[in-house]
Amino acid sequence: MPALVDQRCFTHAQREAVARCPACQRYFCRECITEHADRVLCASCLKKSAAAPAAARWRLPLAVHLAQCVAGLFIAWMFFYFAGRMLLLMPSAFHEGTVWEKSWWEKE
Ligand SMILES: [Zn+2]
Ligand SMILES: [Zn+2]
Repeated sequence: MPALVDQRCFTHAQREAVARCPACQRYFCRECITEHADRVLCASCLKKSAAAPAAARWRLPLAVHLAQCVAGLFIAWMFFYFAGRMLLLMPSAFHEGTVWEKSWWEKE
């Protein structure tokens, strides 16, 4: 495998290459390479990857996001419902009683 410093940009023959596109395995200069979603891609590969599955990619996260919203609301409702049930199950003496009369750190 040839060293990166010896490589020239695929589109700019006079420029030094700074990175290699993992998709097309060609070397590119700083201007031709772009970072996209934690991946370094050349401009043409980025165009290719962005064009095809963009519509399909958008649909799924939206559905997942909605499902997460519903699940979050349901979990919150469950939490407060059972918290309310717990409070109702407690004897009223617990609320009116001696529990809070004295702070725990004052008890001997
Ligand atoms: Zn590429
Ligand atoms: Zn270039």
